[in-house]
Amino acid sequence: MAGNRLAGRTALITGASSGIGNAIATKFGEEGADLVIADVRREPKLEDETPVFDRLDAVGAEYEFVEMDVTETEQVSEGVETAVSAFGGLDVLVNNAGIYYQYSADETPMDEYDEILDVNLRGVFLASKLALPALKESDDGKIINLSSIYGLVGGGSSAAYCASKGGVSNLTRQMALDYAADEINVNALAPGIIETAQNAEWRETDAELLADWQESTPWPRFGKPTDVANAALFLAGPESEFVTGHVLCVDGGWTAW
Ligand code: NAD
Repeated sequence: MAGNRLAGRTALITGASSGIGNAIATKFGEEGADLVIADVRREPKLEDETPVFDRLDAVGAEYEFVEMDVTETEQVSEGVETAVSAFGGLDVLVNNAGIYYQYSADETPMDEYDEILDVNLRGVFLASKLALPALKESDDGKIINLSSIYGLVGGGSSAAYCASKGGVSNLTRQMALDYAADEINVNALAPGIIETAQNAEWRETDAELLADWQESTPWPRFGKPTDVANAALFLAGPESEFVTGHVLCVDGGWTAW
């Protein structure tokens, strides 16, 4: 149910053109936030997904789009500057941009290892570092990182991905300690299988993996991007004031075994 829970607040969301980022941007827009939508692309990765701009227009949200690769310092700086110049500051950073490759360690091409660590971990570090001066100016600063169940447990024969998300989980805890005195909450979300472009191909083509994922998810369905957006709304809002350094699973019970 839409409300006004983020009225007067500005959020920068990376990877906001598709999937979970699209859903978080939409949810925050419905709740009255001003938004900087940052992505390497404008259009969603899945053809049947509604573009984030259409969704935000439908709810009357204010937003700016910044073409941003989270590995590029100047582009990330531009995203933060846009929040400040267009909306007067930055209150919430959602480090959502991420990529996935599936290889065991011995099969991983090192250029793909470098790429996944660059986007998934260095990108989170860089955007947080560059956003912190603006977040310190906010009276209720929040950083929300997209980790994964694979940032808490191993799995999926995705060694580099697990390494990157494990880094995100512990970076979250460490930064929560450093910025608690500034009253900046730093938390992470650890989704299980969420139906997005990241796994669309495997859902359609790899029956064995699909059955494996279904068996590992006690809740009788996979997650939807809105499941993660609802949890992000809690972490972005005032109700999470005393929650910091936490990695919140949104996984239908995957990690409860
Ligand atoms: P997605 O592929 O649907 O969307 C990712 C978005 O990030 C895309 O719009 C893409 O263009 C953007 N992006 C990719 N590289 C970028 C870069 N270098 N700079 C800026 N933007 C970039 O993925 P998703 O499933 O929505 O995943 C979002 C986040 O959630 C990722 O960090 C992912 O690892 C994490 N996650 C997803 C799942 C899942 O099952 N879908 C599970 C756990 C964690």
